[in-house]
Amino acid sequence: MATITLPTNDVLVVHGPLQPASVVVLDSPHSGRVMPADFHAALPHEDLRDGEDEYIDELYAPAAALGIPLLAAQFPRTYIDANRHAGDIDLDLLDGPWPHHHQPSGKAALGKALLWRTLDDGRAIYSRRLTAAEVAARIERCHTPYHATLQALMDAAHRSHGRVVHINCHSMNAVAGAMGEGGAGKPRADFVLGDRDGTTCSAEVTHFVRDQLAAHGYSVKINDPFKGVELVRAYSNPAAGRHSLQLEINKRVYMDQASGQKIAHFTVLQQQLMDMLRMMQRHFA
Ligand SMILES: [Zn+2]
Repeated sequence: MATITLPTNDVLVVHGPLQPASVVVLDSPHSGRVMPADFHAALPHEDLRDGEDEYIDELYAPAAALGIPLLAAQFPRTYIDANRHAGDIDLDLLDGPWPHHHQPSGKAALGKALLWRTLDDGRAIYSRRLTAAEVAARIERCHTPYHATLQALMDAAHRSHGRVVHINCHSMNAVAGAMGEGGAGKPRADFVLGDRDGTTCSAEVTHFVRDQLAAHGYSVKINDPFKGVELVRAYSNPAAGRHSLQLEINKRVYMDQASGQKIAHFTVLQQQLMDMLRMMQRHFA
């Protein structure tokens, strides 16, 4: 049996078992809130939580009791975004050339490449240019172990159960901001499922999750406006039994964005999600 070795630092944690008890694996790349000492941003810490998927790690943590591992980033999304390709460098952030592989996704135009340049409201995160060595160090310390751990968890589930269903867990603002996907000021559905237009998981997985959520009365959209990005793309291969689905929850469903506090429905949603995961374990076993 392969051993998964975890970094013992502030980069990531895995809630639950390192050997998945079923086909289901979860990850939460954007709920980290440990501010690295070498961030050297121009904005206060509270503002740098702008891209955070608040409470998403807490929301899914009870899945550990079902034998489902939850990989959770500890670093903030604004520091480095695990849901980007390591080569998705915003060249406008650098004080010189990028000497490594460059694989632009187009997200740099929104200020949201691997390292963000701007917040959702368009404010600049830095008042300086970053060195290539600084960016490379963030990749090595945060991005590389996060991806390696997710891949290892998915491999372990696939090896033991012949299949893996990976849910990439996120939340989204109720309404798109100035630099947000889907158009500024546009209200969003309760849930948005992203399978990159049917390429990262089978339709059976996407429809199972859609139907479970819709049965509770939630509005659910598929690939609109979020299709899923790097973490559902990187290790998925539906034909080989490797399924990845991005699950975006509208923050208004579980929290009050003005106060930053959870609302009473948080625990209701949590129970609904745990019920769904339990049914997924059986359905896709
Ligand atoms: Zn997210």
